[in-house]
Amino acid sequence: MRGLSKSRIINHQQCPKRLWLQVHRPELSQTDASAQTRMDTGQVVGDIARQLFPGGVLIDTPDLAQAIQDTRALLAGPPRPLYEATFEVEGVLIRADLLIPDQGGYRLVEVKSATSVKDYYYADAAIQTWVVQRSQLPVTRIEIAHIDNSFVYPGHGAYQGLLKHVDVTEDIGGLIDDVPRWIHEARATLDGAEPVVLPGKQCSEPYGCPFTAYCSPPVAGYPPEILPYNRGLADALRSEGYADLREVPEECLHNDTHRRIWRATCAGTPELNPQAGEQLRALPYPRYYLDFETINPAVPTWTGTRPYMQVPFQWSCHIEYADGRMEHRAFLAENGDDPRRSFIEPLLETLGSDGPIFVYNIGFERSRLNELRDPFPDLASGIDAAVDRLVDLYPIAKANYYHPEMRGSWSIKAVVPTIDADLGYDNLQVGGGEAAQAAYLEMTDPNTDERRKHELYDALLDYCQRDTLAMVKLAHFLQAGPE
Ligand code: SF4
Repeated sequence: MRGLSKSRIINHQQCPKRLWLQVHRPELSQTDASAQTRMDTGQVVGDIARQLFPGGVLIDTPDLAQAIQDTRALLAGPPRPLYEATFEVEGVLIRADLLIPDQGGYRLVEVKSATSVKDYYYADAAIQTWVVQRSQLPVTRIEIAHIDNSFVYPGHGAYQGLLKHVDVTEDIGGLIDDVPRWIHEARATLDGAEPVVLPGKQCSEPYGCPFTAYCSPPVAGYPPEILPYNRGLADALRSEGYADLREVPEECLHNDTHRRIWRATCAGTPELNPQAGEQLRALPYPRYYLDFETINPAVPTWTGTRPYMQVPFQWSCHIEYADGRMEHRAFLAENGDDPRRSFIEPLLETLGSDGPIFVYNIGFERSRLNELRDPFPDLASGIDAAVDRLVDLYPIAKANYYHPEMRGSWSIKAVVPTIDADLGYDNLQVGGGEAAQAAYLEMTDPNTDERRKHELYDALLDYCQRDTLAMVKLAHFLQAGPE
């Protein structure tokens, strides 16, 4: 009988091919940064969940046979919370996040780092319950503990209220009987040949699949999938046999953005609207080009912050004067203290009182500034004034410029290398927002040595500075218009 775990059965439900590859071709799996972040977050939230039920025992041996034995021995002793209690029934192995002693048995708690109960958690809880019940342990209640995003961290390690326990006993009642069938189907898949499954929604929902690179290798050239905001259209074009956007008849495209992308791609030349520079030429100097980096921990670490709140820790600002002089200023929080005040004070000073402040995709920077108003009322008027001066380069670029090598994207990282090939991000040690978050966490970790801290500090400064320099180049390019 093939051994299974809860996560394998869940993976099978997401996609039979995924489970088959996981077992028979594990070398094809590619874990991306977001999957790693999700796992790290799960661990941190799990630690807090255990702290909230103190006095228990963590069964953390990697030797699963030993873990099962330890669980049995502990359950035979005086009742106390068990963390990662391990059970095996009919070749299906599970580890329960929390077992909490209750009148007449145990509460079984699954801990999730999401901020609500998702539909797909019910199957997860049903498998846990099926195994635990068959292990002859009376389960009085089944709960999902998820993050309550209205929680505000009061400081001093007080996390009571961070997790909201939802009783799902009734919701999963009807699913428990389905578990033997799920197990049977997963085993049948594993005993067969590689399933034929076409890539689709299941590749990213509910979780990104680590076999995406195998099933959907990156396509060179200009596939229909580069058309933004309409996956259905790309699928329809594919099913009609179009593998290259340049072969698609224009009448198949029904919006201006798609037709513009199609036109520039077919012609192999960029399109730049001659009026692109009008709005920019009217703006005064000095001009500021601003970009933020933020961190959004599931478990808030700074007093007064909420779960998943975007806390800014870095900014970069290029300042351009009327005579063409350019100045660069930056801030990067170096230690793990609350970075917000030390972030905003020098920023407001740098931004002065006049001149447009360019950002790329205004919603992000504007929201971060607005969120700093409440904790620092003494700075509120300065923050309001800065918000009023924000100018978004993104819609100007989007309305006026497209280059075939942008491949359907107006992200700054797609746009700027088409204007200046030296301004790509591939040569940077930190090349994206997620990598910047990871670098910041490592840099502020007390266990990181000084040499590494300096390396990360420089890499973060380079990255954020590249973003604002890219905005300078883009603004100049749009303002100059076609040659
Ligand atoms: S990439 Fe998609 S089709 Fe391929 S195994 Fe994963 S979920 Fe299945």
